Amino acid sequence: FGLLATAGFIRAQQPLYKNAKAPIEARINDLLKRMTPEEKAGQLNQLNGGIFTGPAANDPGQQAKIAMTRQGKVGSFLNVTGAEETRAMQKVAVEESRLGIPLLFAFDVIHGYKTIFPIPLAEACSWDVAQIEKDASIAAKEAAAAGLHWVFSPMCDISNDPRWGRVMEGAGEDPYYGSVVAAARVKGLQGNLNDAAHVMACVKHFAAYGAVQGGREYNTVDVSRVALWNKYLPPYYAGVKAGAATVMNAFNIVDGVPASGNKYLVHDILEKKWGFKGFVVSDWNSFDEMITHGYAANRKDAAYKALAAGSMMDMESKVVVDYLPQLLKEGKITMQQVDDDVRRVLYYKFKLGLFDDPYKFSDVAREKATEFTAAHRMEARKAADASIVLLKNEDNVLPIDAKSNTAIALIGYYAKSKADMFDFWIANGKAEDAVSVLEGMKEKFANSNITYSDGYLPDGSSNEALIDNAVATAKNANVVIVNVGLTGKLAGEDRSLANPAISEGQVALLKALHATGKPIVALVSAGRPLVLTAIQPYVNAIVYTWILGTETGHAVADVLSGDYNPSGKTVMSFPYAVGQIPVYYDHFNTGRPLPDSGDLNWKSRYRDIPNEPLYPFGFGLSYTTFHYGNLQLSSASMKKGSPLQVKVELTNTGSKAGYEVAQLYIRQMTASIVQPVKALKAFQRVYLQPGEKKVLSFTITDNDLAFYDGEGNVHIEPGAFKVFVGGNSRDVLEKDFTLQ
Ligand code: BGC
Repeated sequence: FGLLATAGFIRAQQPLYKNAKAPIEARINDLLKRMTPEEKAGQLNQLNGGIFTGPAANDPGQQAKIAMTRQGKVGSFLNVTGAEETRAMQKVAVEESRLGIPLLFAFDVIHGYKTIFPIPLAEACSWDVAQIEKDASIAAKEAAAAGLHWVFSPMCDISNDPRWGRVMEGAGEDPYYGSVVAAARVKGLQGNLNDAAHVMACVKHFAAYGAVQGGREYNTVDVSRVALWNKYLPPYYAGVKAGAATVMNAFNIVDGVPASGNKYLVHDILEKKWGFKGFVVSDWNSFDEMITHGYAANRKDAAYKALAAGSMMDMESKVVVDYLPQLLKEGKITMQQVDDDVRRVLYYKFKLGLFDDPYKFSDVAREKATEFTAAHRMEARKAADASIVLLKNEDNVLPIDAKSNTAIALIGYYAKSKADMFDFWIANGKAEDAVSVLEGMKEKFANSNITYSDGYLPDGSSNEALIDNAVATAKNANVVIVNVGLTGKLAGEDRSLANPAISEGQVALLKALHATGKPIVALVSAGRPLVLTAIQPYVNAIVYTWILGTETGHAVADVLSGDYNPSGKTVMSFPYAVGQIPVYYDHFNTGRPLPDSGDLNWKSRYRDIPNEPLYPFGFGLSYTTFHYGNLQLSSASMKKGSPLQVKVELTNTGSKAGYEVAQLYIRQMTASIVQPVKALKAFQRVYLQPGEKKVLSFTITDNDLAFYDGEGNVHIEPGAFKVFVGGNSRDVLEKDFTLQ
């Protein structure tokens, strides 16, 4: 009887929030009632972690973080990873803090955790949405097994500017395609969020970070509201609609107000208009940075302005943990507002199951069994195959038959350097695990004689001796493959370049190799489109390999051998010259557009270069050829509410099976807000055997004809339209129709 009574007593004493059977809402309400203002501030505080086990834990900085966690003053850590590390820190929060609220562990898992997939920009060039979603789910699975609950991706920033080093993290220049990819990535990462095999996604950087002036990192953004709504916001919105648990503020200003303190963005758009129910996290120190922007007077003011705008969790600037209680006391913010913010953070901790099993994610055995498996690597290889974009293939110099005995000269330091298979964001990936181009080629072309030469230095510069050596190597070969581009370290945050082009040294190298008279294949690896105009005269083929991650060498060899018929299509325009940037396909007509022929004077143009990019958005070649014909509309006039059918015949007119990405664009000829000359509205990735013909059908609905005004209202206006279908944004068939 005594024992039973004690058990009953303990049960009665167990706080409701610890009762796994109670509904989440009730548990949160119970917990909120028990929390002090300091503890509430703690849930909105995210600190940079580091190592918390072994001797490193004795570092005074780490000790201070442990002490804060014990006091309930930390809700989340970023950059703590690994089952063991996360477990050690979770233990402090759960067992040594007053209320035992578990921590959230977050990390930048941008394109894989241990198995590193192609950079997001490259992966987007596959147009293979199912693969993109699968890649994200694998990244999530590996991350979750390493104790992570939350990843800071996808980056949904649209950008027209290859000077900006972070274009590598996005899906390119198009808002529609960016939206499709954002949703796929969110779904892949999050799944249903309660199986410990998925993680919370973070839609970032809200908003318009991709429009930093001059492509210079952290710089000013000054876009019109019309551009904001139509060009920049759609992918964030798509990510939110797909259920993203979190959204991250951007570093930049929008309309003169830092994004972190921007009520229009966070409160009016995200919360009210879009009904976002997750929580908002700052970017690194971005609350505090409102002081240097000239928007907040001091740290307390920064905390106030961030919270008042609707931003919630403070990454690393500690202004919220330091000042929230005081702001409450002074009545500058209300308890109701704080509770609403904290409630959202707690909700996800419950939803992930952390209150009931705080170590659910941190499982050493599962971590080992899950990471870098053969199955994951196979998916990374498939993704890498499909990411590669063939830009040029004169006289069908490619593919190279792997069965015959070919003398291949492979030139270029980046072909050998494993570190250059990776960029800045590699999570827990290890360069030594990556397959280099040299390794991949040797494996695939086992019957061939491959000789390697550096050609240039790690920074991309070259000299006479290196060039002479490369030329000597080339002279003995039947075909010369030259890996040029940028070191992987130049892709990512704080990697802006004023001159995103092939280095002088590499151009000189290609020129010298071309002089040997051998066929030259350029592999270009970079986290962004580079200006390729200077190398054009010296190369017979250009294979854009971006940065492909773990399976780089296998994928490059798959494509060079023709085992994989290249199918990637670029999602950013390739500028003809740096001075042309920004150059993008969904631009507007001026009052003086350039005519195809006739008098070119007094028209909107450059006197020294063409208006057109070197390679347009959506462009990419295959080892086969595709023909588009017989574009048909179900009617030349469309009524609101009744969709229009579009049909086009696509034929594989070459001799190899392959994928084609058919793209459908629309233009509204006249509207209350001028519309782009073309805007992507649909695409299909189809596989055709040689000689095979397929009739593709697309449906145009009202939604495809809609645009936003500067207040975010949707307009669908009657009038004249054009529809275009083709294999890229330039080479298209077109038909007119009207909306009544
Ligand atoms: C970047 C974010 C990233 C964060 C955390 C910031 O500097 O802008 O994209 O998620 O750091 O590492």
